[in-house]
Amino acid sequence: MSLETTPAVLLRSYDYSETSRILRFYTRDIGLVSVVAKGVRRAGGRAGTGLDTFARGLLTVGMKASRDLQTFREFAPESLRRSLGADMIRFSGASILAELVLENAGSDPNEELFERLDGGLTRLDRGPRKDLLAMVLAEAWGMVVALGYAPQLNPCVHCEAPMGDADIGRFDFSAGGVRCPNCAAEIGGPLVGPGAREQLETLLSGNAPPNLQKPRAQLQLLSDFVTYHVSEGHPLKSFAFLASLLAGETGPLEEA
Ligand SMILES: [Zn+2]
Repeated sequence: MSLETTPAVLLRSYDYSETSRILRFYTRDIGLVSVVAKGVRRAGGRAGTGLDTFARGLLTVGMKASRDLQTFREFAPESLRRSLGADMIRFSGASILAELVLENAGSDPNEELFERLDGGLTRLDRGPRKDLLAMVLAEAWGMVVALGYAPQLNPCVHCEAPMGDADIGRFDFSAGGVRCPNCAAEIGGPLVGPGAREQLETLLSGNAPPNLQKPRAQLQLLSDFVTYHVSEGHPLKSFAFLASLLAGETGPLEEA
């Protein structure tokens, strides 16, 4: 067995036995790693201190190449990001980033992806409340792009003709981008006009647009794109959770 120490973010944990937990970390140096942490559930024990979901710290693991579950030695937390657990929108955004990584990452290190995850969680933890939804969309699209799945907004994904400034196209999920008006008639995807396209361009660069329009439509587009291209056909639970929060925020008139 070899000991590895690496910067890491705790993405998920499960109870494993009376006293143990399974912890899944994304790390800078050894990619995605699952560990058994013995004794962390014991009452009054110090071993589980700082093992908050989305916390960043220095992880030490006993590694054996032949095993799927490695041995937890120590986690020295550097940032607990407790605001993420105290606000439902922050929490759902962090859950989306975690789920994207859990769906896609392997044991090969990917420093860019680690920085995207770690920086994104910090921004969601500290960002102003009023810009949160735009920030969640920006961080999630930024991660989708970092994973190598950027959609094509211009030129047309079907005929490669450049889109005019005023063109209203449609999003073609199977082709992974926007169709121009001439090609859009054949498909039923969501309409993408100039405003939506401009917002998407900003979001794909990982930045929040200043006045996010139609947030629920933008969330649905992102969720459907990820289902189609990133998570092999099944929708991520964290998108459904955020969509249900937004539906609740529109008030009782729309609930029926
Ligand atoms: Zn076209």
